[in-house]
Amino acid sequence: MSDNCIFCKIVRGEIPCKKAYEDDEVLAFHDIHPVAPVHFMLIPKLHLPSLLEADERHAALLGKLLLLAPKLAQEQGLTNGFRTVINSGKGGGQEVFHLHVHVIGGGNIPPMVKRDVA
Ligand code: 5GP
Ligand code: ZN
Repeated sequence: MSDNCIFCKIVRGEIPCKKAYEDDEVLAFHDIHPVAPVHFMLIPKLHLPSLLEADERHAALLGKLLLLAPKLAQEQGLTNGFRTVINSGKGGGQEVFHLHVHVIGGGNIPPMVKRDVA
């Protein structure tokens, strides 16, 4: 747990969230600024800043997050597929430094990478 991490505060219930799933190790909640009709995040309750700090000890937890993604996506109505995004570090555009897997879908999902950008 990290005292001033927004997502740790959400895990502790100090900041409200719209939960999609919770167990003893992980929490899923809807993004406050969705980029698509369905946009939620899956996080470990453990404060792990990003994939850059992950190691073999976190393998089962990371696997659990990825295996939950399709289950929860379908529960949220994304029966036709979804996008997962994990931003890692400042260079990856990460804003909240508590590892999270974005699950995004519904509507028109554009290609992820603009091919004209070098
Ligand atoms: P990142 O850019 O770090 O991959 O994504 C952080 C995400 O967290 C952003 O999509 C942002 O909208 C979301 N976010 C930031 N603060 C809060 C919050 O207090 N509650 C919720 N539900 N989402 C948040
Ligand atoms: Zn945290």
